[in-house]
Amino acid sequence: MSQLRRDPVRGHWSIIAPNRRRRPDDHGEHGPIERRGGGPCPFCPGNEEHTPPEVDAVRPNLTTANAPGWLVRIVPNRYPALLAGAPGVAVVGARAGLQETLPGVGSHEIVIATPDHGRRASHFSVDQWDTLLAACQFRMGQLLQDPRVKYVVLFHNHGERAGASREHEHLQLMGIPMTPELIRQEAGRARAYRERRHRCLYCDVLESELAERSRLVLCDEAFVSYAPFASRMPYELCVLPRAHRASFLHLSHRDRCLLAAHMRELLQRLERLFGDLPYNWVLHSLPDTDADADVFHWHLELLPRLSKQAGFEWGTGGFINGTPPEEAAASLRAAITST
Ligand SMILES: [Zn+2]
Ligand SMILES: [Zn+2]
Repeated sequence: MSQLRRDPVRGHWSIIAPNRRRRPDDHGEHGPIERRGGGPCPFCPGNEEHTPPEVDAVRPNLTTANAPGWLVRIVPNRYPALLAGAPGVAVVGARAGLQETLPGVGSHEIVIATPDHGRRASHFSVDQWDTLLAACQFRMGQLLQDPRVKYVVLFHNHGERAGASREHEHLQLMGIPMTPELIRQEAGRARAYRERRHRCLYCDVLESELAERSRLVLCDEAFVSYAPFASRMPYELCVLPRAHRASFLHLSHRDRCLLAAHMRELLQRLERLFGDLPYNWVLHSLPDTDADADVFHWHLELLPRLSKQAGFEWGTGGFINGTPPEEAAASLRAAITST
């Protein structure tokens, strides 16, 4: 069982998870990612027995669980950072002097994003993107029904430099027993802003980016993506919904289709400029039951890994970024794709 430990000075939580050491890419295995661990790809159709049994799957023809015929498949991570624990037993934190801990209770799942081993997310159809987002939305709602789960982390690591341990596209969904400090800090700034201005900080950022235009990349009826004013890294993007809501869970079918097309277009434009680049994207979304839900506005952050973070970043918590976001946005606006 892993343990969550809170840093008394910085406030962040670390998951101390010894069983993650068994992962094929931990501790010094540096071969091409597909060869690590050897054997067939466990995420490919026909190899379903190589993953733990699925917890959910999109099967349009009602095929049998753990058999081929799926479009998206969600399975427990073989090397989970968090485990379910005994059902119904509350997660009780402990404090001993300066040491604050929580038991490593939660979930850690893999969302196999496509049955097609070689297809990159940038080349998924809009329908596949929509199916993927819908599956994540549904599963996230299920995970949040467990009162022990306070937050669900959804992210995608693409490419080895972005932390992917397999080539076959997959996302990760983690139900965790506390709200991450990063999200608390964001919400704290949004709350302070609202107390001062009586407005939503994110809605105002959206309005100001729309007015200024120089950092805008893509706008549709429901979403605006832009290169943030203080971008941490080259070509960082934020995808912000126009509608003010704390949670991604309530995204309508129409808006989800727009988000599907939006994500595909952003990844295609990045690929047009840089080829198959490594990136992470992460969802920031608060459950409605969270104490900060009234001031939060959900969004996606897309972080191309074109540069490395090093000593300055660790030493300051700030970033050195050689590409002005205005330039990144202009290049991305010009990189119109043909489809
Ligand atoms: Zn595969
Ligand atoms: Zn807002």
